[in-house]
Amino acid sequence: MAKRKPLIAGNWKMYKTGPQAAELTSRLKSLVPDIMDVDVMVAPPFTALEVVAGILKGSVIHLGGQDLFWEVEGAYTGEISAPMLEAAGCNYVIIGHSERRQYFGETNATVNRKIQAALPGGLIPVVCIGESEAERESNETFSVVQKQLEEGLEGITSDEIQKVTVAYEPVWAIGTGKTATTDQAQEVHQFIRGWMETAYGNSVANDVRILYGGSVKPENIGDLMTMADIDGALVGGASLDADSFAAIVRLSINAATD
Ligand code: PEP
Repeated sequence: MAKRKPLIAGNWKMYKTGPQAAELTSRLKSLVPDIMDVDVMVAPPFTALEVVAGILKGSVIHLGGQDLFWEVEGAYTGEISAPMLEAAGCNYVIIGHSERRQYFGETNATVNRKIQAALPGGLIPVVCIGESEAERESNETFSVVQKQLEEGLEGITSDEIQKVTVAYEPVWAIGTGKTATTDQAQEVHQFIRGWMETAYGNSVANDVRILYGGSVKPENIGDLMTMADIDGALVGGASLDADSFAAIVRLSINAATD
């Protein structure tokens, strides 16, 4: 069975002003090779999307939003819609990041609405799921992930799910320097693919891309990419450094084409 085309995605979180984002993007554009074997995406803050989109023209690097609201437009102060992201040059959007769940009250139900809003215009949702440290310690990892899948993907058809990327991000590994071991990550990725198979059938499950996220860096991407069900990475901290992010992309290409 051929492995899925990997995706390496950089989540810049609330870092980088427009000028700083422009500088990082220019460096990345020169460092990330023009490759077809791996998809690459960066998600800057909303205020930097258009400047980054301009610099990325002619490069293989895709652009993503870090969030969206489910309405198309309206009196929703502070929010950004799917058509706004598309018009700014995005073709990806991160949905349900654990920081949004933790600080901004996102739930599986709001994640579901956001996925439904992203799909019609062609944005690829990168849907984040994962357990907290306390949940892992009390052996609830699989039940938490299952609930996030069941509720987050409720009503998503098998045609639609093929446009969705899932990111498994154990909350205890995000920004902490603690990485899940390759076996810990693979075990949950396999569980997610198994859930997909039950929900959507074998062929769809084989095609769904499942990223790992949580303190990914050049030192660990190679090992992670050797695992059967790991199809790339959602990278936070290390994506803010052009050399580190470009190294992660290069090492993932080697692993994917080995
Ligand atoms: C993230 O923001 O999705 C993330 C995984 O962050 P970090 O790589 O810094 O752990």
